[in-house]
This record gives sequence, C-alpha cells and structure tokens, in this order.
Amino acid sequence: MPDRSVLVVEDEENLLEALRYNLEREGYQVHTASDGGEGLEMARKLNPSLILLDIMLPTLDGFEICRILRRESEVPILMLTAKGEEVDRVVGLELGADDYITKPFSIRELVARVRNTLRRTKYLKDDQGVAGERPSHRIGALEIDLNSHEARLAGRPLSLKPKEFDLLALLASNKGRAFTRDQILEKVWGYDYIGQTRTVDVYISWLREKLQADPSTARCIVTIRGVGYRLDG
Ligand code: CA
Repeated sequence: MPDRSVLVVEDEENLLEALRYNLEREGYQVHTASDGGEGLEMARKLNPSLILLDIMLPTLDGFEICRILRRESEVPILMLTAKGEEVDRVVGLELGADDYITKPFSIRELVARVRNTLRRTKYLKDDQGVAGERPSHRIGALEIDLNSHEARLAGRPLSLKPKEFDLLALLASNKGRAFTRDQILEKVWGYDYIGQTRTVDVYISWLREKLQADPSTARCIVTIRGVGYRLDG
C-alpha cells in the first residue's frame, strides 16, 4: 500500500515508539530511524508516502534533511518542532516542509494531521490525473497554469513551493471571494479542524513578496481584517 507508509525520524526513543504504535494501529506501515543520516538514507530507499521529521537529530539535523529531500522529491514532510521555537517552524516551512506540529503534541492530533496530509496529497494527485484541461488564470501580469502546475509573472517562471502554488491557485480560482484562514487550511492543507492559522499567514507573506515584483500584482492579495484573505484583480 504505497499510500500508507510513514517514515518517522526521531531520536527520542519513547516518542518514536509511541508514534510507531499509534500509526500502526491506524493501519500505516511505519519505518523508523533514530538519526539523521539513517533517516535520509531510508527516505531515499523506501520512498515513503509521508515523513515525520524531528529537528534536533544526531549526525544530520531535520533542516538539512528537509533541504536535501526537497531537491529530490515532493514527499510530504511534517516537522516535529519544540514548543515556542517559532523560528524553527518558519525555517522548516521555508525549506519546504509541508507543515509542522509542536511538541508536546497529542498523538491523536498527530495521527489526524498525518491522515489529512495524505488525503490532501492523494486528492491533488487524483485531481491532476483526471483527463481534460483545467483552466488557467490571469491576474495582471500573473498567469497560473493549473495543468502544468506553473505560474509565470510577466512571462518569467515564478518559483513557488508546492503549497504556495496550491494557495495561489485556490485564491485565483475564486477571485474576489474571501476565505478565512481556517478555510484556507482546510482546502490547501486538508485540515478538518481549527488551528495552526499562522501557517497561512507565513505562506501569504511569501506569496506577496514574490508578487511584489510586478506592479500589476503587487497588491492583489488583500487582507480582510478579522476574516482572512481575498485575491483581487
Ligand atoms: Ca530530537
């Protein structure tokens, strides 16, 4: 079952075993590594459906693993970050992690997050597999091609992380419609519960930075106070 394998890279033995037990109980095939080098090697060899990645690890830290893996694959990566380490979360997302969960977390929440991330990934893949052209969107000098999964600004390819593209595609496909942060989380990250809305703000700020390069799109993402975001254009 290729959609059901999870690699857990974590050096705290008790946590590792708790994760293994609970994920296996949910029907996942679980592989574990307790140091970074081994984790990277297993990620490459096993090609898991999802990776749970601790940051502080012997031999190679989680950031480094994330950086290396992102050059090679789009496997969903969920980082396990320490409480209060806001910087770690932002760095992790910047390096291409799909999401983070803060320690100490409830196992129930983590399992839900794994399930939602996998469901979301599968949905995107299935969606791409459906025959027929998907529309492109244009906002000023920005073109978003939903078939090739590419965005261009003034004719030049815009380098976007997978989730940045999904977020931009969601807003552009619903021009003028306001989304709450929770709605965005649900649609782009696949969560069916409230919380972690800071992730949305971080991604919005990255998109704005990239869109700023052209006057026609510089202010197309509008913040609606107390609600969320909307794309105009
Ligand atoms: Ca650790």
